[in-house]
Amino acid sequence: MNNLAVIGAGTMGRGIGYAGALAGFQVKLQDIHEESLQKADKYLQKQFDKSVDRGYITKEQAKEALANITYTTDIREAAKNVDLVIEAVLERMELKTKIFKQLDEIAPPHAILATNTSTMSPTEIAAQTNRPDQCIAMHFFNPVPKMKLIEVICGLETSEETIEKAFAIGEKMGKECVKVNEFPGFAVSRMNCLIGNEAMNMVMEGVASPEDVDKAMKLGLNHPMGPLELADLVGLDTRLRNMEYLHQTLGEKYRPCPILVKYVKAGRLGRKTGKGFYNYS
Ligand code: NAD
Repeated sequence: MNNLAVIGAGTMGRGIGYAGALAGFQVKLQDIHEESLQKADKYLQKQFDKSVDRGYITKEQAKEALANITYTTDIREAAKNVDLVIEAVLERMELKTKIFKQLDEIAPPHAILATNTSTMSPTEIAAQTNRPDQCIAMHFFNPVPKMKLIEVICGLETSEETIEKAFAIGEKMGKECVKVNEFPGFAVSRMNCLIGNEAMNMVMEGVASPEDVDKAMKLGLNHPMGPLELADLVGLDTRLRNMEYLHQTLGEKYRPCPILVKYVKAGRLGRKTGKGFYNYS
């Protein structure tokens, strides 16, 4: 397992690129938008510099890792010689299934196809391929360089061998894996989305300001970040898609908070646009 393609170079794709390159994979980072690749390149340069400054890695490691990463807009070029693909495009089922169909045609027969979906069915995604036994979800967390966990979610047909390989890849990247059987939202997103949505409902009801809701959770329950800060970090558009899927599959309890819908319509997507529940300008 040496060659990794990451499809989608946004918030998560570039982070997975960081972890993969540092672990010694030859990483091809692919995105349909040239601009996303340029942003990812800048982010990765900065992130490796930061890691050196903080003493997490040596200058030599950073240099080697950066040399392991190449960028392309061409999915064929990205996936033709891979051992593993991790897809990290938008949380839309029709997009993920389309990409898995393409990947199945392009990637060598031995390659594992993984999705970084936060909530969606790896079984449904894998069903588009002729290798459902080699498909799996590897759910990384944001920011990937810092966060230790990968949720490994097995679809209906995922083989034991694929699960073992996913755990080994996670370990190679310095992460800890937990095995989760498929159910919408898996273990973490299902709880986390509900907490975030409740925090948004409380802001809407005037219970407290975003600052005070977050402060209460940090100081009262020892959460490292407040739920609204976290939603801004995730991206409110991504969070809304997660909520919509959970609402569709798990029911009323997951109806997205109207403020979330309104912010996304206004283009207030959190940190990535400079404004969400907080102002970052
Ligand atoms: P993002 O919006 O930051 O990035 C998505 C990227 O996909 C963009 O750069 C976009 O140009 C690219 N893209 C769109 N269509 C494409 C295509 N056809 N081919 C290649 N690239 C394409 O999204 P994100 O936050 O990185 O989320 C990606 C996935 O990771 C989603 O499934 C999301 O649910 C999941 N996830 C997100 C977080 C988070 O905190 N943001 C955490 C865990 C998992």
